[in-house]
Amino acid sequence: CRRPGDMGALLMLDLDHFKEVNDRLGHNAGDALLRAVGERLTGVLRETDTIARLGGDEFAMVLRGLQRPAAAADIATKLLAVLGAPFEFEGQVLQPRCSIGISLFPRDGSDVMRLLKNADIALYQAKAKGRGGFCFFEPALLEALERRRAIGEALQAGIAEQAFEIELQPQIHLASGCHAGFEALVRWRRDGDLVAPDEFIGIAEEVGVIGALGRLVLRHALETLRRCDDLGLDPGHVAVNLAAAQLRAPGFTAEVANHLAEFGLEAGRLEFEVTESVLLDRDAGSIAVNLRELHRLGVTITLDDFGTGAASLAHLKGFPVDRLKIDRCFVRGIGSDPDDAVFVRTIINLAHTLGMIVVAEGVETAEQEAFLELHGCDLAQGFRFARPLPADDVAAYLAPTGALAR
Ligand code: C2E
Ligand code: CA
Ligand code: CA
Repeated sequence: CRRPGDMGALLMLDLDHFKEVNDRLGHNAGDALLRAVGERLTGVLRETDTIARLGGDEFAMVLRGLQRPAAAADIATKLLAVLGAPFEFEGQVLQPRCSIGISLFPRDGSDVMRLLKNADIALYQAKAKGRGGFCFFEPALLEALERRRAIGEALQAGIAEQAFEIELQPQIHLASGCHAGFEALVRWRRDGDLVAPDEFIGIAEEVGVIGALGRLVLRHALETLRRCDDLGLDPGHVAVNLAAAQLRAPGFTAEVANHLAEFGLEAGRLEFEVTESVLLDRDAGSIAVNLRELHRLGVTITLDDFGTGAASLAHLKGFPVDRLKIDRCFVRGIGSDPDDAVFVRTIINLAHTLGMIVVAEGVETAEQEAFLELHGCDLAQGFRFARPLPADDVAAYLAPTGALAR
């Protein structure tokens, strides 16, 4: 393949959700499925191609004598179709699915280890894009992976070095214009810069430090309330964002109760924001248990970014939700996109019909504020009122606004 015009491909194939087949239907079914996959692969490829089972549900194929990269894509498409055909085992019908990562040689590497590694990176990307498809290796994937790994390592160090702080963004009671509370937003001070959470929360979840990070945020948030209370100010509640992994931990509610007690705060002062994707987590069972315990403890539960996820009204029934937070993408369209105005009104009505409080986020203009107030939205948050404030500025923010002294 090193000769000009010649090309080969290494395909890495991995069955999606194979573990579930083993768990649900038993290992005999898993074994039979693996054999069927082997047979189906052999059926598609040529005699001169090589097929190997690397272990578990991972297969690798070496294709030779390709004219162009598109030829590898054609074969991958065919493999996905053939492997996706229904598979029957003892009366049960399975719909197998797999993902494929492709590296080309000599383009993506000239030794086996490099080609395997690059095909694996492409496979990871195929899965991240939603499984059931294929993906070619690209150098940018490797760069992204290395960047994520570097951020992951820096996160672990950052937790040890206390490099995380919070900013607090005020929430306003629309009818009265009074201060109602804050949302705590995590910030990472890294080499003198403040890094925004969108850049690292996902990675913190992947590398398993979200629990420690979330604990820091919660403690900073409670500490801020404690400090304001001690100054005779009225900070109201604080809303803290939760990731799925935090709610999966069995002892989470007890831990929260301990933190509240340590800072001498009532549970009613604390609010947790969760997105709908958290409720759809693979471990929705233990998440529901924790949410119900937290709710019983008196913590407010808010469904964040409402309307953007896999919005399902079933979530409002199956989980103890106290508040809905209208996502800022709908708020943005108030006054310009009639659909958005309708969505916002509908969410407000839905929340109120169910006896919930409704919060609008991302409020930037007077027009948005007026619309939300007119339609009875309870609370609002956004640059219109205040940007997220450093924790040290919170007391100064509360004092001149005449927040009631306790
Ligand atoms: P979110 O929960 O939807 O938080 C609101 C985001 O909107 C914040 O961005 C905030 O700075 C921004 N924002 C506030 N007012 C306005 C406005 O008027 N206009 C616009 N365009 N944006 C506004 P931030 O701080 O970058 O946070 C991004 C996301 O990171 C958050 O979205 C939340 O999902 C996540 N996040 C933040 N802190 C934490 C945390 O402690 N734990 C977890 N798990 N996630 C967090
Ligand atoms: Ca939030
Ligand atoms: Ca939000």
